[in-house]
Amino acid sequence: MAGLLLGKTLSESIYDAVRKDVAALKKQYNKVPALCTVLVGEVNEATLYVEFQKKIAQKLGLGFFVKKVKEDIAKKELLPVIQELNKNKDINGVIIQLPLPKHLDVKEIGKYIALGKDVEGIHPENLGRVLLGQDGFAPCTAKAVIELLEKAGVDLYGKEVVIIGHSAIVGKPLSMMFMNAFSTVTVCHIATSERGNLKEYVKKAEILVVAVGKPNLIKGEWIKPQAVVIDVGINCVENKVIGDVEFATASERASLITPVPGGVGPVTVAILMRNLIKAAKAQFKEGE
Ligand code: NAD
Repeated sequence: MAGLLLGKTLSESIYDAVRKDVAALKKQYNKVPALCTVLVGEVNEATLYVEFQKKIAQKLGLGFFVKKVKEDIAKKELLPVIQELNKNKDINGVIIQLPLPKHLDVKEIGKYIALGKDVEGIHPENLGRVLLGQDGFAPCTAKAVIELLEKAGVDLYGKEVVIIGHSAIVGKPLSMMFMNAFSTVTVCHIATSERGNLKEYVKKAEILVVAVGKPNLIKGEWIKPQAVVIDVGINCVENKVIGDVEFATASERASLITPVPGGVGPVTVAILMRNLIKAAKAQFKEGE
């Protein structure tokens, strides 16, 4: 039976460090770091996630703002909203809540967030830094996966890693992070499934990361015995949140597995708040 890779211990240790930094910044500058999340329309999942961010930010003594804009906002109307937040000295981090309505592409919009306020790591330059293994703001979920593995003492060097999902915020940057750690990486996506090859790739994974958004896409019996399984997926099914991996059967074969909820999610938010501190430190120092 697999051990559970819980996000709570890691997220709590990140929050402890954030609390200390908030107190120190308050003492030194008499200011607290503040995050602004841009919410386009009223997408249910996005609104719930924003509520969660707010709760955490308040718990940590951070400032938190929501900029709501209408669902059918045109890209050219959204850009000045972002530029205004870039200029606002009371805001230290700007994030665009996903999912966005279909007419807006996060890959296009990311480049308009000021580099130093891009705490979710969606600006092309921050993504480029991930590719090169350089310091910057890395996408929080991808970073959360790597830190969870490191915390659990999982060695990445030379490992067969299979990532399912190739989005710009999870699968792609994560593949770069694993490569930078000398893992051997395979990235699968919808076309892998369409060719009927998904199972074959999953079967060879020593470390499997699934970030798709399809409940129970990955069958437990496909998991290589003793594999480490990281389920990033979040799906609401009959009022319950579940992942992309068949949890019960996968647990019988894996050595370690993340639950959904309670695995990657809490660490993602903690890393977002840690990034906000990093952004605020640089901005407060610059304003001295
Ligand atoms: P996305 O929709 O941008 O990308 C989905 C990926 O899955 C694509 O690469 C697509 O080709 C692939 N895919 C779709 N159907 C497939 C199939 N049948 N077989 C194989 N691949 C398939 O998604 P995203 O933004 O990367 O999010 C993925 C999931 O992770 C969602 O459930 C999302 O809610 C969740 N998520 C969780 C966190 C967290 O902190 N836990 C953070 C971000 C996203």
